[in-house]
Amino acid sequence: MHVPDLVIRNTRLVLPEGIVRGELSIEEGRISEIAVSGLAKGDREIDAKDNIVMPGAIDVHVHFYDRNFLHREDFRSGSIAAAAGGVTSVVVMPLDTPTFTPRAIKNVIRVGQKDSLIDFALHAGNMTADSIKYVSKVAALGIKSFKVFTCAPYYMDYKAIGELMGVVKSVDGVTFVHAEDDEVLRDQTQRVLHEGRKDPFAHSDARPSEAEGKAVQKILPLSRRTGCRLHLAHITTRKGCELLREAKKKRLPVTAETCPHYLIFTRDDITRLGPFLKVSPGLKTSEDRAALWDALAKGVIDIVATDHAPGTRKEKEVGWKDIWKAQIGVPGVETLLPIMLTEGVAKGRLTLERMVDILCAKPAQIFDLYPRKGVIREGSDADLVVIDLKKKTTIMARELHHKIDWTPYEGMRVKGMPTITISRGIVLAEDGEVVGEPTHGQFLAR
Ligand SMILES: [Zn+2]
Repeated sequence: MHVPDLVIRNTRLVLPEGIVRGELSIEEGRISEIAVSGLAKGDREIDAKDNIVMPGAIDVHVHFYDRNFLHREDFRSGSIAAAAGGVTSVVVMPLDTPTFTPRAIKNVIRVGQKDSLIDFALHAGNMTADSIKYVSKVAALGIKSFKVFTCAPYYMDYKAIGELMGVVKSVDGVTFVHAEDDEVLRDQTQRVLHEGRKDPFAHSDARPSEAEGKAVQKILPLSRRTGCRLHLAHITTRKGCELLREAKKKRLPVTAETCPHYLIFTRDDITRLGPFLKVSPGLKTSEDRAALWDALAKGVIDIVATDHAPGTRKEKEVGWKDIWKAQIGVPGVETLLPIMLTEGVAKGRLTLERMVDILCAKPAQIFDLYPRKGVIREGSDADLVVIDLKKKTTIMARELHHKIDWTPYEGMRVKGMPTITISRGIVLAEDGEVVGEPTHGQFLAR
């Protein structure tokens, strides 16, 4: 008789059609059968104890690897943190070192294949007008998304972004845009600098809401004109949500993300955390934050990604005296699921099904990983997370696995935790501790 490699029983499965009690079996890394009961005994069995089993989360915006900043994060520590937090796939974003030539891309793929615990895809970036010529060669390597900035330090003007989108469309790719208008940022930065300000709020004041609104307004018509899929990184404002709602009504091929830090913090938290909350775009108001949750619940914002970009304590602390010297970014990949379970599901802002859509199915669909990833169905990769909805804990940096020793969520009480993380049928983490083979991860060509 046929023996599955692994059978998970006594679960509440989050399937596309809803949550159902049942069990599933796994063979050769894929989900082979889903049933209410009666599946054949497997080589290994897991009793999920009536807990939720959902697809592994997919974080499409992480900065895991830059050969010049390996003291902040690398594939090994970043992917271990991800697995411990129930994230089974990431799409890795370039940080500072340009990663848009075939040579540079091949190098990152090689490092990831060697060091990543979880499966990963890559975005090319940060694109420049000169780099448009590489798009088709890079696409042939399995890269279908291209990151651009409308602002410094990787500024590309709107005309060039339009050209890039035309070419990205021809390879059926996605243009991934950091949308803050450069002119607004330059004016406001000059104003703030002119006032001699170096305090922690100065960074946020130099990046006002209007910067996002103006950039989104200018980018949307480019997607209409070229027909190129457009993904907006880290939306932070109510205005941004309104523009997206309009664009979607008009059926533009546009999708958007926000990040946990914009869903949790506001400008006011800078008083307490100062440079540790130096992020770009800057934090906004509680009104904006409420609009983001509402937009997520209604599908106006499609997904949550973390923009995981840790800096060391030292690189942050200099910012108390001079915010301009502090590194930009926060860690987030390991805390993504507990935060969404707590602030989204437990607080009634999102249904569990909607959260799974936001963290699993939608990111896979937008970035061409679906249905291999992001869904529990027969034939899909067996990337699964067991979730204990009742488990309460307190977030503490010393229990997290990213390379640096702090988290902006220190001391936050959470309810709902990933307890078992499975990738292609292999158990990678149990109760926040990694048990899997460190070289398990594979490059996901798209
Ligand atoms: Zn980023």
